[in-house]
Amino acid sequence: GFRCGIVGLPNVGKSTLFNALTETAAAQAANYPFCTIEPNVGNVAVPDPRADNLAKIAGSAKIIETQLGFVDIAGLVRGASKGEGLGNQFLANIREVDAIIHVLRCFEGEVTHVEGKVDPIADAETVETELMLSDLDSLERRVPALAKKSQSGDKEAKAQAAVLQPVLDLLRDGKPARLGRPSDPEDARIFDQAQLLTGKPVLYVCNVDEGAAADGNALSARVFEKAKAEGAQAVVVSAAIEAEIATMAIEDRAEFLSDLGLTETGLARVIRAGYALLDLITFFTCGPKETRAWTLAKGSKAPQAAGVIHSDFERGFIRAETIAYDDYVACNGETGARDAGKLRSEGKDYVVHDGDVMLFRFNV
Ligand code: GDP
Repeated sequence: GFRCGIVGLPNVGKSTLFNALTETAAAQAANYPFCTIEPNVGNVAVPDPRADNLAKIAGSAKIIETQLGFVDIAGLVRGASKGEGLGNQFLANIREVDAIIHVLRCFEGEVTHVEGKVDPIADAETVETELMLSDLDSLERRVPALAKKSQSGDKEAKAQAAVLQPVLDLLRDGKPARLGRPSDPEDARIFDQAQLLTGKPVLYVCNVDEGAAADGNALSARVFEKAKAEGAQAVVVSAAIEAEIATMAIEDRAEFLSDLGLTETGLARVIRAGYALLDLITFFTCGPKETRAWTLAKGSKAPQAAGVIHSDFERGFIRAETIAYDDYVACNGETGARDAGKLRSEGKDYVVHDGDVMLFRFNV
């Protein structure tokens, strides 16, 4: 499955957020740097009101949400790219995730700050600098080796060098690799295979105090400016509140949220933003037994969607009976959609749309 890594300096609220995310106490929050050593993975349901609507129409006995993985990655400190703190382990763990959720401390208070002052922009730069140094180090070695190979006629090496040389130039210029991700799909594949730490999409999570949970504060406003300038995403969350909500009964949550001026939890926003960050879409299977949401990379075709459910479905794929979500709702279900001519029989080249309700026909 797809995974987001939660990163940030020590004591910014990563574990608090992660615990709330998984509703477990697996990664214990403590006012001490390096307290979370092993990365912890939690799979979290992606909230999607469309699944509830479909289930109502189809009379489904149950709803199965799609999931997104979150990894709590041990705290990074200045010097990690040179092996300081848990540097090497941190970098190895981050290499394996698909996107980065970068938690920034935007709350004042008693909690020890590893750099001695609360400054989310400086913190973001400290972390990003370590990641850029690590990428720079790896490309300084890889690009010349690729150039050498391509001179002796290695076509794959030549293609890799052509993609990675401009990325190396960006890094030398102090810029993250993600600004150089190519738009051409084949080049993008080469770029992704290089597994650069700063090549992954980033979501900044501004961890604010309770009172600022609805509107943010001056510190989070600065992070939003930074995100905007970088084409990155940002959300405001109060990890402490989220931790509290996670322990509450479902029926008590709405009132608690509205007292704080919120309509949904910050976690719901983080999960959805993480999902969008990864360029994922959701398709549905829907019937009396269950309505189920499935995750698919944007741009995937119908057989790949079938393959998410079962590899046999992909191998034996014949066609997919497909109804757009809006049509399914407007026609009050499959029968109505069929009668209205809104049920399409799609073949192997059909590019799946977000929200498609699908039924696969296949040979076994
Ligand atoms: P990590 O090292 O980044 O994983 O940080 P933790 O989640 O362990 O949090 C460090 C400390 O900050 C803990 O004592 C938390 O209770 C506290 N903390 C986390 N979020 C907030 C917050 O929004 N407000 C305040 N005041 N304290 C927080």
